[in-house]
Amino acid sequence: MTFLSSIKNTLKEVKFSRPKPIFCPKCKSPELYSNNTYGILPPIYTCHKCGYEGPLFLELDENEKNN
Ligand SMILES: [Zn+2]
Repeated sequence: MTFLSSIKNTLKEVKFSRPKPIFCPKCKSPELYSNNTYGILPPIYTCHKCGYEGPLFLELDENEKNN
């Protein structure tokens, strides 16, 4: 039980510490996840909304927008 909640907290911290959120270049959804299984290769991003898969992603600076 505590193991799962600690994973949840770690995921939250990773999400919040990310300097710039990334978005799907196809549908502009933030549901974009990297699948870096090889280490030496650039990660492949997978969109959980439209099913996009590829090395490209959109980088929108929401913080600058709000300021
Ligand atoms: Zn998408």
